[in-house]
Amino acid sequence: METENCCLCNSSISNKHSEDMYTTKGVPESWQYDCPICGRVKYEDIALLEKICKDEILKIKARYYFSQNKKQAENLTRNNFEAILNNVPYPTSLLGKIKLVLDHYYRETKYLFHEITINIEQDYPLFFCRNTSELEDIIKYLYDNELILGPEYFIGETTFHLTPKGIGYIEELEHNPKSKQCFVAMWFSKNTENLYNKAIKPAIEGDPNKNPNDEVYGTGYSVRRIDEKQHINYITDELIKEIRHSKFIIADLTGNRGGVYYEAGFAFGLGLPVILTCHKDWQKELSKNCGCKRDGIHFDLQQKNILFWTDDPNDTEYSKYNLVEFKKALIARIGAVVGLNK
Ligand SMILES: [Zn+2]
Repeated sequence: METENCCLCNSSISNKHSEDMYTTKGVPESWQYDCPICGRVKYEDIALLEKICKDEILKIKARYYFSQNKKQAENLTRNNFEAILNNVPYPTSLLGKIKLVLDHYYRETKYLFHEITINIEQDYPLFFCRNTSELEDIIKYLYDNELILGPEYFIGETTFHLTPKGIGYIEELEHNPKSKQCFVAMWFSKNTENLYNKAIKPAIEGDPNKNPNDEVYGTGYSVRRIDEKQHINYITDELIKEIRHSKFIIADLTGNRGGVYYEAGFAFGLGLPVILTCHKDWQKELSKNCGCKRDGIHFDLQQKNILFWTDDPNDTEYSKYNLVEFKKALIARIGAVVGLNK
């Protein structure tokens, strides 16, 4: 990057410098710069950033990641960039981006005709647009379809409000857009106690306005799970009601419980975002040789983007999947899928 432009968005950058840490070879370990669009971009070396930029989707995801986290984003390294960018929820359909913009208006709207401002020139990475004009086109589409109302011509900062038609559209499309509840479907067992108490619960209920490195940092939602006793009593009505009232669900597939698959399937069917997690030892079917054959994650879900964890300090991959790292990844995933509840 001889030219002082951002590799991710091509804006002029400032404050480019290496971090103080140096490797034994005297080569800086990481670099950073400030970009008016992406915020503070931190990366291991320029070759890594160039590698990311060669893949258009990865580049858009990286731009989103830095813009979303502004100054608090982690340093992208060769070891972590795939894991970090995997947590960025790139819209899977063409209409996905349009829905994201409408969602944004909906989330910010506190009362009827509340005016919401978007800065088209700065905010386009947050909607996964390739450039300013793609976001402009989406806003024009929403305007032409009378889902938002505002000035006919716009540039830079634009102020629109949702029309009742736009509100109706999103409420029909999305389940419980104003809900603050996360439903947790999981195996109730000693094997998952640490997972729930040390990672899932604090991740969901933590304070989204704290620094991400703070222990009490989290997503700001409330957590709901139905305990096993109730399962035995088949209070499925209660279960269904709680899932219906949730904004999203977390389903931990550890233990291969039928109930968890049932709840996750029901939520998928409702169109709720479902975040899948699993103990890393339950990912694959366990060898029959050990005399205790055990099923792994069901084939249908194996291809999904699952967050893995372990609470076993003797595990060779403990440093990667321990509950502290898992909690961070879970918060990032929730933030990416439904946004933090600030
Ligand atoms: Zn940039």
